[in-house]
Parts: sequence; C-alpha cells; structure tokens
Amino acid sequence: MFNWLKRKEKEEPKTEEQIQEQQAVYEEGLTRTKRGLFRQVVSLFEVDEITEDIWEDLETLLIQADLGVDTTVVLVERLRERVRVDRLKKPQHVYDALQEELVEILLKPERDLQARQAAAGTPDSHEDRPYVILVVGVNGVGKTTTIAKLAKFYRDKGKSVMIGAGDTFRAAAIDQLEIWGERVGVPVIRHEPGADPGAVVFDAVESARARGTNVLIIDTAGRLHTKINLMEELRKVKRIIQKQLPGAPDETLLVLDATTGQNGLQQAKVFMDVAEVSDVAVAKLDGTARGGIVFAIARELKLPIRFVGTGEKLTDLAEFDARQFVKALFS
Ligand code: GDP
Repeated sequence: MFNWLKRKEKEEPKTEEQIQEQQAVYEEGLTRTKRGLFRQVVSLFEVDEITEDIWEDLETLLIQADLGVDTTVVLVERLRERVRVDRLKKPQHVYDALQEELVEILLKPERDLQARQAAAGTPDSHEDRPYVILVVGVNGVGKTTTIAKLAKFYRDKGKSVMIGAGDTFRAAAIDQLEIWGERVGVPVIRHEPGADPGAVVFDAVESARARGTNVLIIDTAGRLHTKINLMEELRKVKRIIQKQLPGAPDETLLVLDATTGQNGLQQAKVFMDVAEVSDVAVAKLDGTARGGIVFAIARELKLPIRFVGTGEKLTDLAEFDARQFVKALFS
C-alpha cells in the first residue's frame, strides 16, 4: 500500500525486522494526510450520483488540503470537462478520473526532470567527476536533515559521498552536519563559522575531485530576509563550482517544508528567482494532514518532486513516485 515510498537503490537484502520497521515508518509518514482531508474526498464519491454540490465540496476540500486555489480550480474544471466529454455518470468513474488527473499534475514536471537527467546525467552516469547537488532552502525547513538523509541514500546505493558545509553563517548547522556525517560515515568539509562560503565550497569540490568522490552534496545559506545577499552568495558558490567542474552543479535541490503550506510556495519562488532550481525535496510530510501541497508544487512551480521526508530519522526519506503517492492518498 505504501510502496509509493519505494526505494530504488540496490541495497543488501533487508531482514524481515528491517522491512517491518520501514513499513511502520512509511505508514506513520502518511497517516495524517490520509486521515485528514483526503479521507473526506473519498467520502464525497460514496454516493449514488454526482450532483452540483459534490463539485463545490470537492473544491473546498482540495483547497483546504493545500492544493491552492489555482490548482484546484483548474483540476476541477478539467475533471468536469472529462465528465462531460466522456459522459462519466458513475461516481466511481469520476473518482478514478480525479486520481488520474492528480497523477497527471505530478507527472508533467517529472517528465521534464527525466529530459533534464538525460542531458545532465545522474549520479550513476557521472563516472569521471563528482555529481554535485546544491541544496537550497529557507532555514528551518529541514535542509540539514535532508542533506544527511540524502548522504545516506546515495551511500546505501554504493556511492562515495561527501558533504560541503556551505552555510557558514549557522554554527549549529555546521556542527549538526558534522555529527550526521559521522553517523552516516561520510566526510564533511567544513570551515569555522563565519568563514567565506566560497572557500568551503572550493575546498569541498577540490577534495571530492581528489578523492574521486561520486556525489558531493553542498549546503547553502538559507537566510531569506536578505534576498540580494542570498542571490550573490548562491551565484558566487555556483561560479566557484562551475570553474572547478564545468557543467556542475548537476542538480539544485530545493527543500520545502510540507507543514508551511502555501507560504512555502512563496519562499520557493524566491529561491527560483535566485537559483536555477531543478527539483524539490518535500520535508516533514508526516507533520501535515494536508499533503496537497505536493500538487501545488508540481503545478504552480512546475518543479518535479524527487524526494519526500517523512520523519526525523536518517531512514525517513524516500524517492517520490507519483502514481503510488496518489494511490496511497486515497487508499
Ligand atoms: P534546517 O534549518 O532547514 O537545516 O532544518 P533542520 O534539518 O535542522 O530541521 C529542522 C527540524 O525539522 C528538526 O527538528 C528536524 O528534526 C525536523 N525535520 C526535518 N525533516 C523532517 C521530516 O521529514 N519530518 C519531521 N517530522 N521532522 C523533520
């Protein structure tokens, strides 16, 4: 049921105990969302016929579930059009069509991601140089934790991984990354708090190159109140990476907090203005009953979701699968 959180890595076979443990984590991850507004959406279609009221209720529920007004209006319009053109009468058929439309919203930017990956490569196709992931996002969204989870994710796939502690403004974040690094077993390149982020990034890239590291994950500043500074810092960091490794960074991953709802979208737009964001990791999906934000991200930001975080532990990260996600929401 929860295999939308499927793990695609080639891991050692897991013990029964590990599998059960993971399953429990996944179930926990979606519990709130499933019990929340999506449960009510399911109930809407447990009727004998589709009436005008259902459309209104559906709109209200989807907006409450954080899909956002725009996405909801377009989705419901499209659904009504399908009902008209395909002459859908049975509530079950309309319900099926709703799920198909939701999957389509998620798949659209995912296809773009596949096209981009075909051009830019993936961690698997970069044999000659480190695959560089620049991680951006506002402080507090779960960036540090997501970086640690990503390090584990790639390490479990058999990659050598390194972390660059590029947000030198936050001493606690640097220390935290170092602790995570030790736990995961990956080196963390850091300087003292307050140091030049460019210098850290330079050292991290040099070090990753020298050691033949497969995946280099770089943390960046997340202070939003100074957009100009943020822009300058991210640009500088990018320039330094590009100079050392033409073509890199290969991925600019934006971390968003599922619990901040539509506010998160506004924050995302700031980062999209200052960095070429390529994909999104949605953290804290376990902390909300309104998992609909995932659809708003895909449709309004036109960004594919690559990962979701469903807890505070290192293992609480999964690759995103649109079809399985929608299926699990309505299960
Ligand atoms: P940063 O400031 O963006 O680097 O955020 P942190 O990684 O330090 O995370 C902020 C808080 O959110 C910490 O208490 C984390 O344990 C918590 N957190 C991060 N990701 C998740 C998640 O997926 N689920 C839950 N429930 N908590 C998370």
